[in-house]
Amino acid sequence: MRVVHLTLLALVMATGSRPAVAGAQSHSERQVLLQPVHYDLDLRLDYEAEQLFARVRLTVRNASEQPTPELPLLLYRLMHVTSLTDEQGNALPFTQRVLTYEDWAKFQANYVEVTLPEPLAPGEEATVTLEYEGHLLGYTETGMLYTKDRIDPAFTIIRMDVNAYPRIGYPSIMANRAAGLPDYTFRAAVTVPESLQVANLHRLVERSAAEGTATYVYESLEPSWRMDFAIAKYEVLEEQGLTLFYFPEDAAGAARVMDAFAASMELYTEWFGPLRRQGRFTVIEIPDGWGSQADATGAIQAAAAFQDARASREAYHESSHFWNVGSKDTYFSRWDEGLASFLEYLTLDHLEGDSVLAPRMEQRLEWVRTRFESQQLWRETPMIRYQEVNITGLSYTVGSLMFNVLYDVVGQERFNRIIGGFYQTYADQGATTDEFVAYAKGVGGGDLDALFQDWLYTTRWYDYVSAGEAMDELAARYR
Ligand SMILES: [Zn+2]
Repeated sequence: MRVVHLTLLALVMATGSRPAVAGAQSHSERQVLLQPVHYDLDLRLDYEAEQLFARVRLTVRNASEQPTPELPLLLYRLMHVTSLTDEQGNALPFTQRVLTYEDWAKFQANYVEVTLPEPLAPGEEATVTLEYEGHLLGYTETGMLYTKDRIDPAFTIIRMDVNAYPRIGYPSIMANRAAGLPDYTFRAAVTVPESLQVANLHRLVERSAAEGTATYVYESLEPSWRMDFAIAKYEVLEEQGLTLFYFPEDAAGAARVMDAFAASMELYTEWFGPLRRQGRFTVIEIPDGWGSQADATGAIQAAAAFQDARASREAYHESSHFWNVGSKDTYFSRWDEGLASFLEYLTLDHLEGDSVLAPRMEQRLEWVRTRFESQQLWRETPMIRYQEVNITGLSYTVGSLMFNVLYDVVGQERFNRIIGGFYQTYADQGATTDEFVAYAKGVGGGDLDALFQDWLYTTRWYDYVSAGEAMDELAARYR
């Protein structure tokens, strides 16, 4: 369910580089040794002053092999730290300077360097408390055109893309990229005027109102690599594990998404049996051009996607994920995305009387024929190894083709017993891909051993597809 849409950010990051500063060790040469573990955030938005006032208790861990006293932080360029203390409330020495990224000449950030009272040993954790405040006026000048972030009653978003909360790192894309995007947990209290609503993809634990303001407290449902708080005059719909934050003018689209979600939940319950525990998924509508985002617990979606017919198909996709089994693979290829990508079209045909699945899958076969030719890694990597070589994006396409073949071979009834039975058997403890394959073969129908060998464990499927075989010819191989 976790899709990381880093395209925009990555695109911008890839452009514009400059040689590292000579002499003293540049930021690009440094290694980010600490990782975030937990954020405890208190945020107050002042719409008249267009300012943000924040207090964050940040717990970090030394994920490296060497001790370090240095905690490097990045904050939005117009925000500054007013206080920095340790857990006992003692002031910690720190410096802050607005710097230009060494390898991104248009990107400036307030670089805050904190010195911990003593070096943090490998594996150890420390907690610091920062108070900071300032303005938020986006980063569009860097080329990240979607970062129009500002404190505006019409729409405000607080997110990591602009360092609206401190992020561990150096003013260097290279150094930060090497550190990856580690997951952390959070609790955040966001205070806004009472007329506005704060939306987040995790769990709302409390809303309190006082003197014309409202405070929303959110807690992470599971660790994530980002926190997003979208603030607007939202309307909210909540049903069967789906929470929808939408703009009042898009009420019709929201109702359609809700209906689509409910209808697919009913269909999957019929096909795969009852859910063993209620899944949760949140969708937050944002204006067009602000950058959509998806995470394990939900999606932040541009208004356009919300208003058109695609929205119901996405609802089918997301609700189907509730019937997934947690992976116990060391490297998980994300074939569950292939299953969801297949089910969204199958469900569309079922519920809306369309015949979209068959032409869509033929299109995907054609896509494979044209796109794989120049991609040696794609051609030579079996799906089971997609994560090892970092191409899990392909699991949507290749996985959906594999599940379509499986469906055509075994038929709806056996397909339901494979997917539903596997879920009912393994939902509580999780399973490996090998266990899934063994389960499917146990339910049987057709030559499933050859099917999984060809599609999952080898790239033989590609030979058949590139030779021009259509879906019915592919399925005929395993009947
Ligand atoms: Zn998905």
